[in-house]
Amino acid sequence: MSRYWSPIVHELTPYVPGEQPQIEGLVKLNTNENPYPPSPAALAAIRAAADERLRLYPDPESTALRARLAETHGLDAAEVFVGNGSDEVLAFIFQGLLRHDRPLLYPDITYSFYPVYCGLYEIAHELVPLDDGLRIDVAAYEGRQAGGVILANPNAPTGIALPLRDIERLLIAHPDAPVVIDEAYVDFGGESAVPLIGRYPNLLVTQTLSKSRSLAGLRLGLAFGQAPLVDALNRIKNSFNSYPIDQLAAAGALAALGDAAHFEATRAAIIDERAALVSALTKLGFEVLPSAANFVFARHPEHDGAELAAALRARAVLVRHFRQARISDHLRITIGTPAQHQRLLEALEAILSAG
Ligand code: PMP
Repeated sequence: MSRYWSPIVHELTPYVPGEQPQIEGLVKLNTNENPYPPSPAALAAIRAAADERLRLYPDPESTALRARLAETHGLDAAEVFVGNGSDEVLAFIFQGLLRHDRPLLYPDITYSFYPVYCGLYEIAHELVPLDDGLRIDVAAYEGRQAGGVILANPNAPTGIALPLRDIERLLIAHPDAPVVIDEAYVDFGGESAVPLIGRYPNLLVTQTLSKSRSLAGLRLGLAFGQAPLVDALNRIKNSFNSYPIDQLAAAGALAALGDAAHFEATRAAIIDERAALVSALTKLGFEVLPSAANFVFARHPEHDGAELAAALRARAVLVRHFRQARISDHLRITIGTPAQHQRLLEALEAILSAG
């Protein structure tokens, strides 16, 4: 605390990022990174872009990247926004679209950056509880006044996906409010809402290259929506940092989006490994929620979540544990390689058999 702080900073509870320890041999299953390397074409494009052109500012409109994304999704370039990771895109959305006198609605258990942005931008909000199965309860969002709705689909940290017909119910229930669907994990089994954009002027969808494209280190996030919503984000961007996408990231992202074969191969590997991990965890007595993401959310009825996470950590296996009361018995485990899973499962077997 300091007397120089603004009142907002005094009040703020910042997001706690997942640990990034620089320890050799660690099995790192705590931040939902992709265990496979990025597309070789993306790495080559980044190297090729590292030349004297870095003297210049990047293209403030990220024209080539947005054109490619528009073409891929059958949208207009004016319906595509890019930012420095979806965290930054989300920050712009909270700042530019979700500050209203009516409350923003979001699930009580979801991506824990949302409450941080509400604090930072002083946004009134109401938490809508998940149902008993830790699923998003769509009916609970209907018949309420809202300044906006935001949810992750698949949700984090549960991994449970909502079908598109439920997303449509939210869009229909709140025609005057932006409905933001955070699709950070959609490529691992969710249904994207992007095809609904033409029909719903209140829909904004965010995605990222951090997970399914193995480019968390590049910081590239996306938003798709009708032009007036995207225009709001451009106004905020240009008032904050008009050159958010550096040239290396733009080149890498463009090449990654063009490498469909690499994308499909790594995605399929992760989906296969997820099924294998769910069955191995189930054999060890874990209850695992149905996941459409690159992680699973699991609890062991006889073991405390925090203790399990600590015991795994002592065996050089990092998973994520959340202290929030309703989910403090769970672990969120990122899908890794078969070798990483073997280390995880051996460690779990040793811990469980020790009592
Ligand atoms: N949304 C959700 C639901 C996430 O879990 C994450 C990753 N922590 C993000 C957005 C942000 O991803 P990035 O900033 O790497 O694009």
